[in-house]
Amino acid sequence: MSLADAVAGLKLRSGVLEAGHVWLVGAGPGDLGYLTLDALSALDQADALVHDALVQPEVVAIAAKAEIFFVGKRGGRLSIPQREINDLLVRLAREGRKVVRLKGGHPYVFARGGEEAEALAQHGIAYRVVPGVTSAFGGLASAGIPVTMRGTNGAVILATGFAADSDDRPNWASLARTGQPIVIYMGLTHMATTVTELMAGGLSAFTPAALIENATLPQERTVVATLGTLHDAMQRENIVSPALIVIGGIVALRGRLRGGG
Ligand code: SAH
Repeated sequence: MSLADAVAGLKLRSGVLEAGHVWLVGAGPGDLGYLTLDALSALDQADALVHDALVQPEVVAIAAKAEIFFVGKRGGRLSIPQREINDLLVRLAREGRKVVRLKGGHPYVFARGGEEAEALAQHGIAYRVVPGVTSAFGGLASAGIPVTMRGTNGAVILATGFAADSDDRPNWASLARTGQPIVIYMGLTHMATTVTELMAGGLSAFTPAALIENATLPQERTVVATLGTLHDAMQRENIVSPALIVIGGIVALRGRLRGGG
């Protein structure tokens, strides 16, 4: 099938977004190029689009027929409570809209997509999940760091750094003891504690570490440090959200793997 055929047949290929249904769609880490064909088809069919701050304006703009609902944090304002987002999705579906709930990365990776799916199921609303490229995978590739490399790691840990007080809080010391690389989402705020606990679990201060800010976007920045210098590096370089923290031997491979382009 040619590219033109694939695009022309998007709806046929990806299925019809029916009135009263919700598609939970991942937009990938940022750059438009990471949208899947199913995500593109969803955006083309939507008449209501609910998105948060990680989704780039050029991606939202593809949903030309849709009424746009922004439900993310803006400036210093608190984000909308999850309950209200769930209620909005239910209401739009009940109104017979073709609803796309668009999230950065993958909707089921640290994105509360599971809670939204549960709410929809509880209300008897049909939904579908359209996976996206999660920022750990897209972002590391963009920064020249492999997720796995034969001889370096046989596993990788994806963790959230933000669940400070909840049951989801990772046990950093036990993750450290696995010796496997760790990619931390939402990790900047609690970085100092996280680093201390990883070291308490036995990770050396000299473990290679990196920060990847705005991965895949034109303003992407990567800062390489060590576990011991990571917090200083964040402050010195003024790294802000969205950023990933990568800890482990895979970071040291970056020098060998920088693209030739
Ligand atoms: N569902 C998303 C994650 C949402 S949590 C996914 O699968 O990627 C939000 C966190 O994701 C941010 O705090 C940051 O740690 C990470 N993130 C998302 N997009 C990013 C990007 N372009 N660059 C760096 N980190 C990103």
